Amino acid sequence: MADTASSQQKPPLLVLLANPRSYCAGVERAIQMVEAVLRQREEPVYVRHEIVHNRHVVEELEAKGAVFVDEVSQIPNQAVAIFSAHGVARPVVKEAEARGLEYLDATCPLVNKVHNETQHHHGQGRHILLIGHKDHPEVIGTMGQVPAAAMTLVENVEQAETINVADETSLAYVTQTTLSVDDAATIIEVLERRFPAMIAPNKADICYATTNRQDAVRAIAPKADALLVIGAPNSSNSNRLVEVARNYGCKTSVLIERASDIDWDDLENVHTLGITAGASAPEVLVQEVIETLSMRFQLRIEDVTVRQEDVIFSLPKGLED
Ligand code: SF4
Repeated sequence: MADTASSQQKPPLLVLLANPRSYCAGVERAIQMVEAVLRQREEPVYVRHEIVHNRHVVEELEAKGAVFVDEVSQIPNQAVAIFSAHGVARPVVKEAEARGLEYLDATCPLVNKVHNETQHHHGQGRHILLIGHKDHPEVIGTMGQVPAAAMTLVENVEQAETINVADETSLAYVTQTTLSVDDAATIIEVLERRFPAMIAPNKADICYATTNRQDAVRAIAPKADALLVIGAPNSSNSNRLVEVARNYGCKTSVLIERASDIDWDDLENVHTLGITAGASAPEVLVQEVIETLSMRFQLRIEDVTVRQEDVIFSLPKGLED
């Protein structure tokens, strides 16, 4: 009876829950790799860089014994090293090898595909344009596949309009996997107009998970008064979801790491709320947000599914369950 009475006092809130959301196959694989190594090995397990961009995930793995560092030089000789899902530059791998470190590479297979394309073009003597965001670990890793002079980073339309290349007839482009599909398309359009002979990837580099999560937000944004994106401030794909929502009509689009970050002022006069989570944010944080909302609102939850995902990346030999 008490529950019914209190729920009657709560204002109603329609929640549009984006699907797909949360973990992608590359993130699942990277986390499972660290967990498998932690289970199998006695010696300390060091992970270079946050394995995925999510504090909650990193803290859970730390509690199980993983040690996170920024550089290979911080990893002791007798430890096992794991490289993050974002991929690493070749000099980092060489440094680990020169030190004789035992290492495992949790780079997402879709990031590896971009690395392979990059190396292939370089082998063919082509200059490579990388469409991406400076300083993102994935971009640093991809740029580090070839000598610095072999690649030019293009971050936006202005740069696409103004960059100069030595030989327009020997040019290719690759992209970061977690860009806004719309922004990347605009940049590519400019580059293709300026450099018609430029070679494109066989299959777009922006990954299925990024595309699907953005499509789900596109479906929700025009109907939502506000949208919460659960993800880390340094997560590229989560930040892109915030932008996509704004671009498709939901001006109050906010990135939060977890329920305690909700600014209740944002939800004043909100009757329909969209919720999604970036590819590195665990579903448990989505459920935590829903639970917290249910304490203040009488929730009606609608699943907005734009696509079913069934992608699984298998673990390296020896780490399977
Ligand atoms: Fe791989 Fe895409 Fe996930 Fe990045 S977002 S880890 S590229 S599946």
